[in-house]
Amino acid sequence: MGTEASTAEHTGGNAESPPEYRVPPPDEVTAGWWDATRERRLVVQRCLDCAHLQHYPRALCTACGKTSLEFTDVSGRGRIDTYSVTHRAPRPDLTPPYVVARVRLAEGPVLLTNIVDCPLDRLACDLPVVLAWRPLPDGRALPVFRPDPDA
Ligand SMILES: [Zn+2]
Repeated sequence: MGTEASTAEHTGGNAESPPEYRVPPPDEVTAGWWDATRERRLVVQRCLDCAHLQHYPRALCTACGKTSLEFTDVSGRGRIDTYSVTHRAPRPDLTPPYVVARVRLAEGPVLLTNIVDCPLDRLACDLPVVLAWRPLPDGRALPVFRPDPDA
């Protein structure tokens, strides 16, 4: 009794009704990644020399130092590696509570992201999550994650 109020609290917003996000413009290293988000494809870099996968996009492979990198699609499945719930937003355009999380993709790389559509009391490290997209006004999108409904 009396404990239900906190469990009804959800993460701020959802994937379809984003606040105004300030995101950086693409550059020569990140352009391919951003272009894929326009097609709602999540990609990571794959090294053509050693097959290492990495995210975020870089000019060099972090495993072997070579520059022969391509973008490859990932499944959009992963698990919460760690997370933080923000109850007081640092900017008026962010609606608390919201969750900043590091998600480890099934393919290995980690991604700094938000968890959406998730009751706060369900948040946990190792929780299986799936990809959702938060559209941006210019046609790009940010990958966010929600609890895996099949898990
Ligand atoms: Zn490499």
